Amino acid sequence: MKKQTKNYKKIFKNHVNFDWDTEKYQIHHVNGNHEDNRINNLVLLPTNMHITFHSLYSELIFYKDMFEMDNNYQEYVDWERIEKYLYLKSSIFNLERARAISSLQDDPAFYIKRLHEEEVLYAQKYDKEI
Ligand SMILES: [Zn+2]
Repeated sequence: MKKQTKNYKKIFKNHVNFDWDTEKYQIHHVNGNHEDNRINNLVLLPTNMHITFHSLYSELIFYKDMFEMDNNYQEYVDWERIEKYLYLKSSIFNLERARAISSLQDDPAFYIKRLHEEEVLYAQKYDKEI
């Protein structure tokens, strides 16, 4: 397990060829499979965003289970939370694209800039919650 943890960090670092503040940014597995360490499945996210994403995702799984047990559960769903999840998911998609573009251009500075732009957008939209 420990070896695997080091592996994906090493793979990502080798690919982007720059260091990041590990308190501020974490690596996310885009498809949710932590054993899939292919470079296009790894993306660097602001830590707050990463934690929020996973907590919203857990909530979504909970809703899905509740729907299966009771179709009327819809009225208890917090749709704003779902909207937030979808927004984050699309942000992660954009970050992944930015990373892919920056690697093509061999310009990590571009990726860092793009990452910060996304982070600012995210902070503006969910200012009070993070
Ligand atoms: Zn993650």
